Amino acid sequence: MRAAVFRGIRHFEMVELPMPQPGDGDILVKVDFCGICGSDLHTYRKGLYIKPGQVMGHEFSGVVNKVGSHVKGIEEGERVVIRPLFDCGECKHCLANRPHLCANSFQAGIGYGKPGGFAEYVVIPNALLNKTVFRLPPEITSQEAALIEPLAVAIHAVEMANLHLNDTVVVLGAGTIGLCISQVVKAIGGCHVIQVDISDLRLQAAKRLGADTIINAAKENVMEQIVSITGKDNFNSGAAADVVFECAGVPSTVSVALKCARFGGQVISVALSEEKTLLDPSIIVQKELSWKGSFGYINEFPTAIDLVKKGKIQLNELVSHLYPIDQVNEAFEKQSDSSASIKVCFQF
Ligand SMILES: [Zn+2]
Ligand SMILES: [Zn+2]
Repeated sequence: MRAAVFRGIRHFEMVELPMPQPGDGDILVKVDFCGICGSDLHTYRKGLYIKPGQVMGHEFSGVVNKVGSHVKGIEEGERVVIRPLFDCGECKHCLANRPHLCANSFQAGIGYGKPGGFAEYVVIPNALLNKTVFRLPPEITSQEAALIEPLAVAIHAVEMANLHLNDTVVVLGAGTIGLCISQVVKAIGGCHVIQVDISDLRLQAAKRLGADTIINAAKENVMEQIVSITGKDNFNSGAAADVVFECAGVPSTVSVALKCARFGGQVISVALSEEKTLLDPSIIVQKELSWKGSFGYINEFPTAIDLVKKGKIQLNELVSHLYPIDQVNEAFEKQSDSSASIKVCFQF
């Protein structure tokens, strides 16, 4: 089968690999669509998280091609999405319903340590219906389904926040995760969503998908604009947003996140960063901020599938480009250009 192997910074190689064989508890999935994740970009640009030699790709939809003899309830030919993070089921985090914080969740996950979806076929180890494998209803296309995994990330992040009616919510970043978060907040309802980015393409998508206010940080003064909506809290000219989602992961957005949250407000960090941030912790103390990280998901896939099925979340609009896997390097360059792309997917 054809597969893209990560060789090092800005370098993938197309190779021919033997057909993978599923074990008794596994299934084999023929990949339909696989997205490029923000974390994949950190690997491509900086060599973070993933070692050379890996077949990456963890956001994919496909069709069940083979089913191991011990697998229950999953049939050949069914369209599915998968939960790629690994959980051991035995550690204190797994036992306390924090499987995403299992020590091996990232490294032993599909597309991180185990072979992923930048290939024609992927083995899904320990295939359990509604736990690691999720059937797709006919209302959801295989293309949108490739974005169910990032939508699960967004749902998890929104569930970390204690949202209230009439809250002002700032979403910093309008990539796939930021656009899913603003849609989830609007689906819950009753909040004013301000979306900030430097890409007009992404901000126009935010507007179409329901953000109340969009701010281009390259052209406008973000703090002034947010203050004009929320009024001012008085620590370092801060604004007064109730909840801020940090989905961009650059030092300037981390600092804006802390500045624009109100006294007693919440900041949820969702983006991974390539650079360290210099910050003044006094702002967290004096504003009594709640600053939480949000990583991956626990069991948000069924909710994500149901929201898309019912038309409450639009995912198709986020897919800006489709590439064949043979153009993997071109696809990563396109995904790196936030002015020209939202979500780049491989189509098999
Ligand atoms: Zn991802
Ligand atoms: Zn565990």
